[in-house]
Amino acid sequence: MTPRPTRTEPSAADPAPLPAPEITEAECRRCGTYIAGLDGRYACGVCGWVNDHSEGHRRLPRADEDPDRPPAGRRPPRLLPAPPPPQNGR
Ligand SMILES: [Zn+2]
Repeated sequence: MTPRPTRTEPSAADPAPLPAPEITEAECRRCGTYIAGLDGRYACGVCGWVNDHSEGHRRLPRADEDPDRPPAGRRPPRLLPAPPPPQNGR
């Protein structure tokens, strides 16, 4: 028996991956805490300050570049289970 050749071609729908983000550091502009961010985008864990995404050094990936993006088409929102009925025991 001859094994079938398996061809692994890169799919055309796969765009070149974006370069990994770079870790940058700065001081929080609100409380002065030294914080680390990615590509110049920061979020302070102490006071909650965040800078605008446009201050980043590089563009952000688009939704269709997100490998974790759910497939097209919206799923209906998941309904939360109804709360248990009040128990008036006794
Ligand atoms: Zn802060």
